[in-house]
Amino acid sequence: MKYLILIGDGMGDRPIESLGGLTPLAYAKTPNVDFLAQDGQLGLVQTVPQGLSPGSDVAIMSLMGYDPKGVLTGRGPLEALALNVPLSQNDLAFRLNLVTMEFGEKNIIRNHASGDIPSDEAKGILDTLKEKLPLKIGQAIHQGFSYRNVFVWPNAPDGLADVPPHDNLDKPIDHFLNDPAYRPIAELVRASWEILADHPTNRDRLKRSLPPANSIWLWGQGKAPNVKSYLERWGLKGATVSAVDIIKGLGLATGLAPLKVPGSTGTLNTDYEGKVKTALEALTANDLVLVHLEAPDECSHQGNLQDKIKAIENFDALIVGPIIGGLKKAGYDYRLIVACDHYTPLELRTHSSDPVPFILYDPLARPMETPPPGYSELAAKNTGLFVPDGPALGRLLFGPEKE
Ligand SMILES: [Zn+2]
Repeated sequence: MKYLILIGDGMGDRPIESLGGLTPLAYAKTPNVDFLAQDGQLGLVQTVPQGLSPGSDVAIMSLMGYDPKGVLTGRGPLEALALNVPLSQNDLAFRLNLVTMEFGEKNIIRNHASGDIPSDEAKGILDTLKEKLPLKIGQAIHQGFSYRNVFVWPNAPDGLADVPPHDNLDKPIDHFLNDPAYRPIAELVRASWEILADHPTNRDRLKRSLPPANSIWLWGQGKAPNVKSYLERWGLKGATVSAVDIIKGLGLATGLAPLKVPGSTGTLNTDYEGKVKTALEALTANDLVLVHLEAPDECSHQGNLQDKIKAIENFDALIVGPIIGGLKKAGYDYRLIVACDHYTPLELRTHSSDPVPFILYDPLARPMETPPPGYSELAAKNTGLFVPDGPALGRLLFGPEKE
């Protein structure tokens, strides 16, 4: 048996007036997922447990059949895993952003990404930081991509505050720096200022009117998720196909190999064909493949309704359709889930915790007694099938766990 988890990130939404009260998912032309809904099981699954914030890390861990509660504490450790940084159980892993700070009576983060500083320029900055920051024994900086890097701190103090820089742009951040729960981190942030103030890379960026990387910002910290692998839980070997580091990290934490698709970008213009080809090829040697498309979420954050509809239609026509075709052609027995991880309502331009519509499809299983009209939030609600959490979804897809 082959298993697939196909995820359109952030596809879920609320009714939109200009679409005649339909959601983008209900409005978009999606013949493939509609067929799977009509011929399979359609329902809602609560991917964001109460009390957790609706990030893709949390929601996708649920779609993978896992319980993120008490296990997932930040994106830092997932990104560390994706960079092949080994983590031991007492390591706290942070995201280290290179940011553009405006210094003055009040200190303000003006750009959480240093204007998407290229990795080769970031390398010069990070090399200087590695050399000059007053790091404690065991603390280490690891270069990632662009402004997105990782900082590891073994045996860090408990209860440190987590302050995402993109949520705190253009307002003073001194109260965070002076907060006792952030102070151990703030010491390093402050120390970076003098080191980077006159850095040759920054002088050069300023000359080109680009935002300098004149401060670090540490956030998103957590410990490596300590969970059983798919092999241990269900005897399954698998892989992930995604442009996004936290999904690579989630896969690595659960024993799924991250597969590279050179043209995959996380945007509407990603290499759909490459993703499908990689996923289908991976199935010859694996039992499970997770395919993730970031574009619908990205378009929702940008507030772009037309692009969101296009991204959903691409997910249907360029991911789901060809994968079903490939499975049939290969003659596999298969079961799959199609879902979004969380809503990213256009009216909010950020994530929400609503339960999400999912399809469980097995070509040999019977459809529902009253087949739904298609794949949408409302149709999923109306079937009455409600799955309370990730582990329950995992049992639906994979069956009972090994003893
Ligand atoms: Zn998002």
